[in-house]
Amino acid sequence: MCDDPDRPQGEWHSEDYSEPFSFEPPQSYPLCKPCHARLHKRFNAMPGEWDLFCLHLEAGGYGSEFVQVRGLAERRALSERIASGCKVELPVTRARSPGPYWWRSLTLDPEALVAPWARPRPLRPRPGAAAYLKAFESLSVSGSQLLLLHSHATSPRRTATMRALAKAALGTDNPKTANLVYGNLARQLTSILDWEPDRRKDGSPIWMSLIAEGWYPPGREYEWTMVPSAAEAMRFWAGIAEAI
Ligand SMILES: [Zn+2]
Repeated sequence: MCDDPDRPQGEWHSEDYSEPFSFEPPQSYPLCKPCHARLHKRFNAMPGEWDLFCLHLEAGGYGSEFVQVRGLAERRALSERIASGCKVELPVTRARSPGPYWWRSLTLDPEALVAPWARPRPLRPRPGAAAYLKAFESLSVSGSQLLLLHSHATSPRRTATMRALAKAALGTDNPKTANLVYGNLARQLTSILDWEPDRRKDGSPIWMSLIAEGWYPPGREYEWTMVPSAAEAMRFWAGIAEAI
């Protein structure tokens, strides 16, 4: 990351082991310890500090020099300026290869550590897109079911609350209506695909789990993230269903 020649051998950062940093294919990068620590701490760092660290590297600084070159008070002041939207430029200390730099595309959203939309794959494997598409076909999914699936597949991050889906697809503010229609559809698809759904503590099946992964974001309503293979199948099916 900072190209420190004194980097101890064997420190690597992987983009796809446990932390969902990005949607890139699995990749590993050589890193020094200070850079690696900054990378992982960026979610909890003071606002602007991660950007300041990136600027420091891009001006040729090594990770280990970050806290040596500038004292805490100066780093805090610069971080605040960056966080408030001011442009900060640091004097170049070493020439380095021009960007773009991979670390600039990493997310700073702490929800990326836990949200299902940040995972490249669902926690439990789901059927493939071809299997979903066949199931949509055999049910001739149309009408309000099609509108629900299509709204969901095209939501940002394939993620929506039942309330948002009810509004977008069914023209109602009542999330229970969407829950009923969507749950019923998911139950039929589960049966066609012969898939074992997630279950509640009391053993009852969560039919929606065939199509989506759910989670409670802090301070917001329950959200469902459509699994990528279902969304892919939906994009195909929406085109076909429209033509019929
Ligand atoms: Zn480094």
